[in-house]
This record gives sequence, C-alpha cells and structure tokens, in this order.
Amino acid sequence: METDTPRGKEELLELDRKYVWHHMTAHNDNPMIVASGEGSWVTDVDGQRYLDGMSGLWCVNVGHGRKEIAEAAAQQMMTLAYATMVQAHIPSIELAAKLNKWLEGEYRIFFSNSGSDANEVAFKIARQYHHQNGNPTKHKFISRHRAYHGNSMGALGATGQSQRKLKYEPLGVGFSHVPPPYCYRCPFGQTKDSCSLQCAKAIEQAIVWEGPDSVAGVIVEPTITGGGMIVPHEGYLPMVSQICKKYNVLLIVDEVICGFGRSGKKFGHHNYGVKPDIVTMAKGLTSAYSPLSATAVSAELYATFQQAGPTSHFRHINTFGGNPVSCVVALKNLEILENEGLVGRSADIGNAFRARLTPLLEHPHVGDIRIFGSAMGIELVEDQGTKEPATPERVAQLIAACKSKGLLIGKNGDTVQGFANILTLSPPFSSTDQDVEFIIETLLSVFQTTPPERM
Ligand code: PLP
Repeated sequence: METDTPRGKEELLELDRKYVWHHMTAHNDNPMIVASGEGSWVTDVDGQRYLDGMSGLWCVNVGHGRKEIAEAAAQQMMTLAYATMVQAHIPSIELAAKLNKWLEGEYRIFFSNSGSDANEVAFKIARQYHHQNGNPTKHKFISRHRAYHGNSMGALGATGQSQRKLKYEPLGVGFSHVPPPYCYRCPFGQTKDSCSLQCAKAIEQAIVWEGPDSVAGVIVEPTITGGGMIVPHEGYLPMVSQICKKYNVLLIVDEVICGFGRSGKKFGHHNYGVKPDIVTMAKGLTSAYSPLSATAVSAELYATFQQAGPTSHFRHINTFGGNPVSCVVALKNLEILENEGLVGRSADIGNAFRARLTPLLEHPHVGDIRIFGSAMGIELVEDQGTKEPATPERVAQLIAACKSKGLLIGKNGDTVQGFANILTLSPPFSSTDQDVEFIIETLLSVFQTTPPERM
C-alpha cells in the first residue's frame, strides 16, 4: 500500500481497469470487489452482503472467516514457513497420513500447488509407471467431452470443452475424448429404461481403437462438475473401472471439486465403490485458505518407482508444492470437516435442495435438475420438448436476478458449443439451515418471476 488511507471504490476500480487481468472473462469495467467473508456470506466494498452460493469456485467448503485456520497458518509461518519436498517436514508427513485415512486405501501422496498441477503429475506418473513396467508405448489418455481438468497444456489436452481450448491449440498430445454420461441428452439416444451404459462402453471402444498397447490411463471426475453438473448413471464408474483393469489402463479420478465432502461422501468415487489407481485433489483440500493440491498414487503403482537406477524415481519438483503452511491449513480444514460432521452436512444440503426444488421442473425453462452431494446444476432450456438450450440472455437474467436478491450462483457448460445453460450451486457445507432456506427461497422466487416468453 502506498498510503495509509484506504482507497475508495472508484479509485480501486480505476486501478483494476488499468492493471488487473481478470480470469476467464472479457474485461469487466465494473467488477464486484469482494472485501470480506464470514460463514457462507461475502461482503463487497459497498457493504452489500451476498450468500456465496458457489463457495468461491467450488472451494470454500468450510465457509469464510475461520479464525482457527488463520491461527494455525500464522503459527506455522513463525515456526517454519518453508522447506522443500526433497526434504521432509512434519506438516506434510501428518497430512499424507491423514489423507490415507480419508481415502480409505493405501496411497503415496505427491503435493503440488493447483488442481492442474495435480493432474499433470498424474499423467507423468502414469506414463512413467507403464514405461518402467515394460510397456513404454502406453502413453495416451482418454477423457470425456464436457470435462474440465485444468489450464496447463496437458490438463487442457484432457479437457473436453472447446471454449477453453480454442486459440491455444495444439495442446499436450495423446489425449482423446469420448461422449459424456449425460442422461438428460444421452449421446446414444437411450432412455433410462433402455440404458445399457453405452457411455461406459465407449471408453472400451476408444481403448480398442487407439490400441490398448498405446493407452496409459482414463481420467474422469466422479461427476462432471464445471462442464455442466453431469451426474452419471450409478453403474457408470464401476464399469469404467472394470474396463480399465481389463486393458491394464490406469483409472485416474479427478476429485478436485468432488473430493473432501462435496459429493456427500469423503470422496466422489466412494459413492461408486471403485478403487482408483490415482486420485487428484485440490480446492476442498484446504477450503482454498491456501493453495495446495495432491496426487495420491496407489501403493502398487508406487512400488514401480522404487526400482534401482538413476531414472526410476519420479523426477518432478515444484517450489511451492507441499508448503508447510498450506499443509497445516489442510490439516486444520480436515479437522473442522471431521469435528463438525460437515461431510454429512453436505449430503443434507443436497437432500434439502432435492426435496424443495424439484417442483422447479414444472417451470417451462427448467429442463433438468442434477444434484451430487451439495453440488447442484439446473439445466435451462428454451423448450422442454425440444430441449433447445436456454439463450445466454435468459441464463444471464436469472443469474442477475439471484444477485439482486443477494445470492451468488454460477453458470457452467461450454459457451462455444452453445451449452452454457446450466446454473450451478455449491454452497459451503457449513451453511446454516437459514442459509439453505435463503438459497431455496431465492431460487423459487426468481424462477416464479422469470417470464416464460422467448428472450
Ligand atoms: N480439475 C477439475 C475437475 C477442476 O474443476 C479444476 C478447476 O476448476 C481443475 C482440475 C484445475 O484446478 P486449478 O484451477 O486449481 O488448477
């Protein structure tokens, strides 16, 4: 700060317009400047309060303003602010052990900074694993259209949304995509009754056609979140897991959003009884109080990296990954989730949404409502019969109407493909009953006043 007097809003906006490059959006000359947060609510510089219905970016799961996390971080900064992960330090040891309990399996934990990093690490580990197991040609990865796995060249290669990739290609090579398990718009023209999980079988077809000797892994989120809250049939992930085993292809589960309770269980894949080879995690690991991500690798895979020789260990490093302060923040965050029973609370929030918001399906512009734990997607259409996606104007109108009533919600899908028509909510699990009621009542009233005519 150049001055002791706090800057006024206009001055802040002027500096923002001049110097700040905002993420994932065309420049907005009048962005909301968030000043503080407490529980599920944030306050802007005008003193206006909003319920943070997306927990920031699906991440502030224990809510804002947790002093116990701040105190743990401050204490750790004074004790040891930094040590490399070539060495060992107490917070990373404690956290890796704790994560094994949460994962309910035996995993080695590699720490990084972001979800994208965690997925890049997963791809490199998968390739090296096959290399060192006598399968050096197994290098490709299969993912789904609509999925998002991160912003770096490999993770973006795995991403199945053209809006994120256009003008940045070519990306990391070796990634191919199959249709998503999108029951509302089944890519195979099936209905609930006729479903034979062709979406899962498409992964087998892709492995066969790419050549099983060339495929290293399949990466999936338990539910596609940012790509439009696409919740799969309950048989999907178990079948994908079997297919992976059949072809010696590693199952990488991206738990960056679904992990740490968002799905109503500790991890999203716990809903489906599968055991991934690799699990990636970020966001909810620290509830975003500090940057940290992790790639958990099964003990069987890790054994391959203990062979003798100068190149058989994993030759990857990053400066900030596993920072002791972030590890302490993660430990305190997990303690809060455990002590306050917030994983169960996340499931309860989703159940309240299910019970109270299902009548919205009668609204002419609501095509589908999909809920996974406490994450919800409301797919908007112009016409329930044709399922034509809602116009951007209609989606924007609903988001603005929620904001004007004090509720921040998100929008997901793929703008370029014309499917950015899914409203999303993923509130903090610490939301009180009144907070949940506020979300529900706001949504009901906003839909009640939305004109049905075409926009
Ligand atoms: N994977 C998923 C499923 C995500 O939603 C995201 C980010 O939203 C990422 C990976 C990338 O995480 P980060 O933004 O921390 O790099």
